[in-house]
Amino acid sequence: MASPVDPHQYTLKKAVNCCGVGLHSGRTVNLTIKPAPVNNGIRFFRSDLIDGKHIQAHMDKVIDTRLATTIGDNKIKVSTTEHLMAALCGFGVDNANIELDAAEVPIMDGSAAPFIHLLKKSGLKKQDGLRKVLRITKKITYTDGDKTISVTPYDGFKVTGEIVFDDTLIKSQKYSLNVNADRFIKEISRARTFGYVEQVEELWANGLALGGTLDNVIAIHWNRKSILNEDGLRFDDEFIRHKVLDLIGDLALLGCQILGHVTARKTGHTQHLAFMKAIADFPDCWELIELKQNGTHSVLDQVVSSTRAAGDMIMPFFKPQPQPVALPEAVF
Ligand SMILES: [Zn+2]
Repeated sequence: MASPVDPHQYTLKKAVNCCGVGLHSGRTVNLTIKPAPVNNGIRFFRSDLIDGKHIQAHMDKVIDTRLATTIGDNKIKVSTTEHLMAALCGFGVDNANIELDAAEVPIMDGSAAPFIHLLKKSGLKKQDGLRKVLRITKKITYTDGDKTISVTPYDGFKVTGEIVFDDTLIKSQKYSLNVNADRFIKEISRARTFGYVEQVEELWANGLALGGTLDNVIAIHWNRKSILNEDGLRFDDEFIRHKVLDLIGDLALLGCQILGHVTARKTGHTQHLAFMKAIADFPDCWELIELKQNGTHSVLDQVVSSTRAAGDMIMPFFKPQPQPVALPEAVF
């Protein structure tokens, strides 16, 4: 398993596949994760469409952040990318081609654990190419009402999440970890998605969450004190662990590793996307670096090159916007 600050790029040793249902469509989906060459990044292919084009898993391709993160390009779209992207990032996969025969990544058990199981079955293959890393040099903060997300310089990839719910079950939860494969697998990957039972019923009434069952969603009881799932929670604080999982999966759409400490309070997919755009809009606060081969100590010692605002030259890695857009909420 590769650490986020391992200088090499990694792909899979062999293709692996699974079958599940889409959370919102309720349709059966076959998913195959295949090895891919250096600098490929993560690409999604729709085998059910005649057009063989792919979508790059990149923040520029996000077309919807309600309920789940959806990426799209012309007629091709893929939704609910976040748990699979989190598994790929957490396990240390830089390059993979994902093939689907429907518009939605299967929800599996509502966590990233089934995807980790697949990736373990394949194993990682070290590649010749070196990773590009987005190193944060100054604090960037995005604020949306009482939801805030910021990143500060840090010698590693650290994530802190916090949620505050007005109930007696979740209440206030906070979770922080240095992201590496071991910790991601043990502490984060098994945390499932959740919702209030009446929200699930409302989604059903609107033709959404059709694949949602107690096998893939934690349903919070009307009384706000317990859950409907008979087997209970996997962790006492499973809710915030799942929010951290979502955050890692969305941030993977930057297209490269982050060297920084991301702190998110009360955020969801919409704020995660706005935050990534805020990062792109402030190139004075980061630099793209390539890690030195066989580096073993501080990441700061591993820097061999630095690229600032290199734009299309570095695709599929982080691609800044050409001009800042109005983001009055972004503060330093
Ligand atoms: Zn989720």
